Amino acid sequence: MSHIALYPGSFDPFTNGHLGIAQRALQVFDGIILAIAINSRKTPLFSVDERLAMIRELFADDSRVQVTAFEGLTVKQARAMGAKVIIRGLRAVADFEYELQMANMNRKLEPTVETLFMMTSEEYFFVSSQNVKEVAFYGGDISGLVPPFIDSLIRARVAQR
Ligand code: ADP
Repeated sequence: MSHIALYPGSFDPFTNGHLGIAQRALQVFDGIILAIAINSRKTPLFSVDERLAMIRELFADDSRVQVTAFEGLTVKQARAMGAKVIIRGLRAVADFEYELQMANMNRKLEPTVETLFMMTSEEYFFVSSQNVKEVAFYGGDISGLVPPFIDSLIRARVAQR
């Protein structure tokens, strides 16, 4: 039986922090599903289709990675896709409280799905999609924080705004 984990997030945009977690999860699981959580209350920098395309391009050579988008409960999506584990990344104490609540809520909703946390790698502990966008908006250098082609896409998008 193959062990698949679902790694959900907004990924707006996908950063090297996300990439690090995904790569490390691939050392533990047979495959991972990168699942873009659609949140209609937020105005994203990139549409869901753009994010799907970006992440698919990044993992184009790795058949162990599936990329999808979903709306609604993460545990439902995990079950529907045959994943028994949800992966989350932890950066700082600030992530912990929110993640603890969410993991417990998810366990209540679906006890057969476990949430597994991976600590950020030290190079990326300060990187979030939000602060990458902010730095890019103010003309700061985001190279090294996101994959190079995503860096170009962010700069092009920011220039349009
Ligand atoms: P962000 O929190 O960066 O706005 P997401 O909501 O897309 O982005 O995050 C999805 C998951 O990835 C969350 O579990 C989040 O804690 C984790 N994550 C995001 N950035 C990093 C990072 N730099 N290192 C480790 N995990 C991260």
